[in-house]
Amino acid sequence: MGTDADVIVVGAGLAGLVATAELADAGRTVLLLDQEPEQSLGGQAFWSLGGLFFVDSPEQRRMRIKDSLELAMQDWMGTAGFDRAEDHWPRAWAEAYVQFAAGEKRRWLAAQGMKWIPVVGWAERGGYGAIGHGNSVPRFHLTWGTGPGVVAPFERRVREHVGTGRVRLCFRHRVDELVVTNGAASGVAGTLLAPDDCERGERSNRDEVGEFSYAAQAVIVTSGGIGGNLELVRRNWPTDRVGPMPDDDNVVVGVPDHVDGRMQLITEDAGANMVNRDRMWHYVEGVRNWDPIWTKHGIRILPGPSSLWLDAEGRRLPVPLFPGFDTLGTLEHILSTGHQHSWFILTRKIIEKEFALSGSEQNPDITGQDLRQFLRSRLAKGAPGPVQAFMDKGADFVVADDLDTLVAGMNGLTPVPLLDLARVRAEVEARDREIANPYTKDLQVTAIRGARTYLGDKLVRVASPHRLLDPDAGPLVGVKLNILTRKTLGGLETDLDARCLRPGGEPFPGLYAAGEVAGFGGGGMHGYRALEGTFLGGCIYSGRVAGRAAAAATA
Ligand SMILES: Cc1cc2nc3c(=O)[nH]c(=O)nc-3n(C[C@H](O)[C@H](O)[C@H](O)COP(=O)(O)OP(=O)(O)OC[C@H]3O[C@@H](n4cnc5c(N)ncnc54)[C@H](O)[C@@H]3O)c2cc1C
Repeated sequence: MGTDADVIVVGAGLAGLVATAELADAGRTVLLLDQEPEQSLGGQAFWSLGGLFFVDSPEQRRMRIKDSLELAMQDWMGTAGFDRAEDHWPRAWAEAYVQFAAGEKRRWLAAQGMKWIPVVGWAERGGYGAIGHGNSVPRFHLTWGTGPGVVAPFERRVREHVGTGRVRLCFRHRVDELVVTNGAASGVAGTLLAPDDCERGERSNRDEVGEFSYAAQAVIVTSGGIGGNLELVRRNWPTDRVGPMPDDDNVVVGVPDHVDGRMQLITEDAGANMVNRDRMWHYVEGVRNWDPIWTKHGIRILPGPSSLWLDAEGRRLPVPLFPGFDTLGTLEHILSTGHQHSWFILTRKIIEKEFALSGSEQNPDITGQDLRQFLRSRLAKGAPGPVQAFMDKGADFVVADDLDTLVAGMNGLTPVPLLDLARVRAEVEARDREIANPYTKDLQVTAIRGARTYLGDKLVRVASPHRLLDPDAGPLVGVKLNILTRKTLGGLETDLDARCLRPGGEPFPGLYAAGEVAGFGGGGMHGYRALEGTFLGGCIYSGRVAGRAAAAATA
């Protein structure tokens, strides 16, 4: 049977671009198909903050952070909590990925022109024992150029191969079926969607104008996760582990509409095995975007550790659920309260230093690689522009000079007032008393002081400890925090060559998967939780493995 290319890649996000670049470098011809129009090339990665997990990097060493493969592996395994029979391949991928992150990853990316900001961020700090969840040291390396800076080298390589004729880009091609011949993947079939000149990331039309069918020696599925499809998220939601999923009205969405999970189901229907579908990575600090791009667009706040975190009724969240410590543990706690949101109370001084907003468009200084604007917005007094815009226009933000007015404003954001002023005041005043002397029993205060022993936190991330009611630090800010859907941690089961497996564990000939659709490798290399900055890297690593393996198999 004639083929249209050596390999078909379904999905032109980061994983698909990496796989395509590797295939074409190895001399293979590739059809790269995507349901979205050309302006959305790069998928979610374009919108990402560009945070990457490296271990023992030059940036870490310059900031006097001592990291090692052993420490990173301890952190990863303590965070993943692998405990199922189907964790065989996820665990193997985790080991391979941590070694990549401690070895070749940074060198390989730097050789393609990528650069990182010198201050390394400290995400998911954990707060349990040494073998529990969390990063023991800062490892979140922000790419200069954020998400677009991560996409750029791979897009460049792919476009060069469009020039050489090895790669054909086919936009508005929605794959509806995986074609299987004699038990092997032999192509795809689907629908041609009408052209759409929507802006990047906006929902595009689904008007059908034709059909297509292509044959190849192998197919790589890189179609992303399910986070934009609330119905599918709800179907897979781990209610027994974390409590019931909030109503759609109380959820914001952290990914574009194309993250619809459809292709994952199509691949499963064709006979590939899906594992760990109940593992997901959703955030607890989502705010409604005042300037939305996609449906129900929410932005995740990456908080420093100082905000006071209260549940919907004004009770402080338990230790160690401080901002930025344990996303999944906090989700579970919030959903156990019988409500579907929580609150930060903080000061102007804290928001200026500690609020980062996840998303390339929320960080124009880093995305635009504008050093002067970066230094001005991060080191000068006042909140960075995008944070100030949320304070001024965000539907979930309340700013007030005194606590009575603040709590009244916060109560105005829920259908019925749930916060009791006396209870909130008691929490705030008690916390402030603990700040007043160098000793404390309040572990959040200890954590804030501990964080400031790290130079990076002290410089740009953690405000000097102060009383929330200190008028010099005000005004006060209250932020209503919604659950925000984002990452899919489970996925198509793959072996270490990124080959899809059938339910019995046999390889599915000709079929590969990489990126979020494959749980970033193996069907869920993160296990239950993530250390952050590991998703883009997971797409890069699994896309590279899939591209190289498919190239070898189609030689
Ligand atoms: C705002 C934001 C911030 C983030 N920040 C970070 C960060 O700092 N660090 C980090 O590690 N990760 C981050 N992430 C996560 C990371 O960006 C994603 O996990 C990753 O980019 C997923 O890439 P992918 O290639 O697997 O899938 P996607 O980017 O979702 O691409 C999949 C592509 O497949 C196409 N497709 C799907 N189905 C079909 C079909 N049936 N037919 C044809 N085409 C199809 C889609 O249109 C899409 O273009 C962030 C994500 C977002 C949204």
